[in-house]
Amino acid sequence: MAITFDCECGESLEAEVRHCGRKVRCPTCSERAVVPFPPITFDCACGQSLTADNAHAGRRVTCRIYSLSEVTPTLLRREHA
Ligand SMILES: [Zn+2]
Ligand SMILES: [Zn+2]
Repeated sequence: MAITFDCECGESLEAEVRHCGRKVRCPTCSERAVVPFPPITFDCACGQSLTADNAHAGRRVTCRIYSLSEVTPTLLRREHA
């Protein structure tokens, strides 16, 4: 599984999920860009599947369906190909 993200120069980069948190060198500007973690998907108590930005791990998000407040899991699961 690969994720795409943008370098500061605007170049679209692609990296394997297992490289999340590491730096890769952009072939266009030669700068190092940090590979972001993918969004977290988890189940709300109401049964809805919620997606939160990985930067929000451990924080509360509000379910749009029932306005329940759910804590985003902090587990950063790394998938191995
Ligand atoms: Zn770049
Ligand atoms: Zn809910």
